[in-house]
Amino acid sequence: MATIVDDHVMVCADCLMIIANDDATGLDYFLDEENAAVRERNVRDSIAAVQRDGDYLVAGDSEQDEVFSTSPCDCCNSTLAGSRHHCVLMS
Ligand SMILES: [Zn+2]
Repeated sequence: MATIVDDHVMVCADCLMIIANDDATGLDYFLDEENAAVRERNVRDSIAAVQRDGDYLVAGDSEQDEVFSTSPCDCCNSTLAGSRHHCVLMS
């Protein structure tokens, strides 16, 4: 049975995109191709680090999302101001 390891992981939009949809194509919208590739690697590495013990992140309750925050992303540690999205770490 799946158990909740952390029920309040707040991640940036980039991390959410990959956690929820495994899709990084949105990065190209803001960055050129080269920077998008670097950013995607960074985000994927961060997600892998969070999930290293066999835990996995799932998109959480969108009502707990923050529209604007300067808190660091709990996944990639980005402090870029923007939205933070609620995720749950499951085991
Ligand atoms: Zn992030």
